Parts: sequence; C-alpha cells; structure tokens
Amino acid sequence: MKNCLKKKRNLFDGDQDQFVLEVWKIDCGNCGQKIQFGVSECESFMNLDADLKKTVLSEIKNIESKILGDTTFYKVEGLPISFFQKVCSGCGTTNLGILGLGEYQPARYMVVVVGLMVPDL
Ligand SMILES: [Zn+2]
Repeated sequence: MKNCLKKKRNLFDGDQDQFVLEVWKIDCGNCGQKIQFGVSECESFMNLDADLKKTVLSEIKNIESKILGDTTFYKVEGLPISFFQKVCSGCGTTNLGILGLGEYQPARYMVVVVGLMVPDL
C-alpha cells in the first residue's frame, strides 16, 4: 500500500456535539470520487491489523509513539490516531484513512487527515 495524501488536512475543529454529528469528505486515492465518513466509522489505530500498522508507520513520518508497559500509544499532530477503511463507490478501491482525531484541548475536538492509503497497482 502507498500513501497518496500529499498534504495533511484539517477537517474539523470544534465542540463535541458537532464532532459526533459531522460528516467529512475526502477524495478517493485512486479515482478522486468523494468518500464520506463520520467519527462513528473510525476506530483506534491500536485495532488496526499489525501488518497494515507497520506499513502506515513506515509511510507516514510524523507519527509519535510512546510505550507504556505492554502498550504502544501513537499520536500525530498532538491527537490520538484513528483509522477508517471504506470502499470507494466509484472504483471499488479500499481506502485506509489515517487521522489524528479526538480531544485536542478540553472541550476542543479536532480531526486531521494525515494519510490515505490505497493498494499499489
Ligand atoms: Zn475511487
């Protein structure tokens, strides 16, 4: 897989009520069609498949890791990392989105796209 996102993008900066309701759009890394997602479709980076996690960590440079006991915690842009996997309705490609997502400061929520992984052709 390769990361086809050229520049990180802030998608959201606001309060919690809006954060859970909002729907965001990104362009499919393969065909450019809009893909929509919301916070309910995002999962903690810790739940990502181990091989995919390794690929993401080698492709996206500014991820910070911190080991506490048996667990490695990852952050990017000062936010916990989440991911989503969605199949593009235009081309059928599975897009793996990597996001800084969560509470940045008390009561201030942010979503930053830092990567968009698509399969190598
Ligand atoms: Zn597509």
